[in-house]
Amino acid sequence: MPNLSYNITKRERDCLVALIESLDGNFPTRLVTLSRKMNIKPPTLLEIVRRLGEKGLVLNRSGMLMPTESGLELYTEIVEAHRVLECMSVLANHSSSQACSEASHYDYIMEHETVHALWNLLGKPQKCPHGKKIEVDKL
Ligand SMILES: [Zn+2]
Ligand SMILES: [Zn+2]
Repeated sequence: MPNLSYNITKRERDCLVALIESLDGNFPTRLVTLSRKMNIKPPTLLEIVRRLGEKGLVLNRSGMLMPTESGLELYTEIVEAHRVLECMSVLANHSSSQACSEASHYDYIMEHETVHALWNLLGKPQKCPHGKKIEVDKL
């Protein structure tokens, strides 16, 4: 399980997620495009990307960004944790957008086993509050 061993920060998590979600098929994303999308200045984003690179999660080839295999694996773990945590958050009568932002604060530090146990406890929900598929049992 890739979680935790990478020990990423919230900003690195946001960058990895935004990068992967802005990929157009197998084409890399430009640093400038991602910086605009994330509303972060290019030099700041470059520093985050450098750290993600050191952790073996993102490749930067002259400003063209691609996730590595490990980056994609970690992303999948984050997304599954995110959706399960959103399901938990709506139990507290949070709106789906509140649930989304709450979940993003700890989806990247949860261990897979804990997410799986929580998913069981919640009655194995098949979708997050936004209707996105949960496949935590397939990881
Ligand atoms: Zn969300
Ligand atoms: Zn969702």
